[in-house]
Amino acid sequence: MKAADQSALFRLLPSVDELLRTEAVEPLAALYGRAAVAEAARAVLDALRAKIAAGRLDADALGRLRPTFYELIERQAGQSQQSSLRRVINATGVLIHTNLGRAPLSRAAVERIAEVATGYSNLEFDLTRGERGRRDEHAQRLFAQLFAREGLPETATLVVNNNAAAVLLALSALAQGPDAEGSGEVVVSRGELVEIGGSFRIPEIMQRSGAILREVGTTNRTRVADYEKAINERTRLLLRVHRSNFEIVGFTEQPALAELVDLGRRHNLPVVEDLGSGALVELERFGISGEPNVYGSLRAGVSLVTYSGDKLLGGPQAGLVSGDPALVARLRKHPLFRALRVDKLCYAALEATLLAYLRQDFGSLPLLRMMALTAADIECRCRALAEKLAGSAPRLNVKIVAAQSVIGGGAAPGKSLPSAALSLACEGRSASELAERLRTAPTPIIARVEEECVLLDLRTVEESEDACLAETLTAITPA
Ligand SMILES: *Cc1c(COP(=O)(O)O)cnc(C)c1O
Repeated sequence: MKAADQSALFRLLPSVDELLRTEAVEPLAALYGRAAVAEAARAVLDALRAKIAAGRLDADALGRLRPTFYELIERQAGQSQQSSLRRVINATGVLIHTNLGRAPLSRAAVERIAEVATGYSNLEFDLTRGERGRRDEHAQRLFAQLFAREGLPETATLVVNNNAAAVLLALSALAQGPDAEGSGEVVVSRGELVEIGGSFRIPEIMQRSGAILREVGTTNRTRVADYEKAINERTRLLLRVHRSNFEIVGFTEQPALAELVDLGRRHNLPVVEDLGSGALVELERFGISGEPNVYGSLRAGVSLVTYSGDKLLGGPQAGLVSGDPALVARLRKHPLFRALRVDKLCYAALEATLLAYLRQDFGSLPLLRMMALTAADIECRCRALAEKLAGSAPRLNVKIVAAQSVIGGGAAPGKSLPSAALSLACEGRSASELAERLRTAPTPIIARVEEECVLLDLRTVEESEDACLAETLTAITPA
């Protein structure tokens, strides 16, 4: 294109001012704000100028685009004001998917958040005495009721930001030693020096806490005697870490928790267990055997157990430390507690979640509800969706296949729940292309790709999301 033609095209473009002066802009300004609409208009014009400069836009094409300018501006403004954090549909079948926000919250939890967050609250105010109260009183009473119901001795619970913080706080408060003599030692098995996703490494947390790590045993075998040999006058606690995201199989040995507790008692040392995922129900009811829960740890007599609020507990992101009230009080007094404490939104959601446990209303917690689904329930929904898609997206090849859902989030490694999935293939589109289109849809859908097929495991899809799933699949399939 000649330079003269190009400048003629540039002159055909309106200015930002012209675009903003017309009435068509008013509804957009009301929606996005005048400044954002001006920015969007500038971006649209810049993009058009770049196309002209590259010779990719002639007078005819520009003429055709002209009536759509306000649509382009609206789309641009909408895109730039989209939240980065968005709702997605998890069709991976991984129940506690750390990358997808772990546990979905219950209705009740969300309602409590809304109620507490839209006004003031008694977060740190004692309503009976009319004076300053303590934030860490919240949730405490509900935990205590749950533990008392299990016949456990008096137990206190502290809430911090996440389980990594709970471990850090416990080690800092108990292993630094009250006598300013420097660091105390923490005895831990070599088979438990784990890394959890997102670079939570036990040895590194230990270093941060100021505690000195005394590794005992070997990767596959550690005996009580190994712990006992490592105990000396600088030892402050025995640490047990749940191997939450891997299994060691074969020639292995690990002392029972009760044996460790017994050793701790004989040497007057606390036993702290990092359980990771905090189940407050027997997981056998979902067909998952051999996975510990919080009650089991306390029943075995650990001094403190740490666990996440958003793993198997199904609540908000939080770290919980439950156990001996005297030790919990030491954690509360440690300066780190102030830095690691949680906000009112977390307490609101956590209390609502705990109330569901107290009422044994497990079905109200999305995570437990999804875990309880049978393969037959899920297959039935797959069938309904497949029928719908046969009508609306005939070029999509849909099969119903058996699948295995996993707990994920570093919980119950090697255990899975039998499920059913839609297996999708589409002529002229690779599975990864199809998965990408699902991922970039207005409501993103995250799927698994296996053997050149896209798999949608409906266990982790709420039934209310099935319609959106069908719509999106129809929209991304060539007609
Ligand atoms: C998940 C996990 C952690 C980290 O918990 P966050 O809540 O993610 O901070 C620590 N230890 C174990 C054993 C875990 O499974």
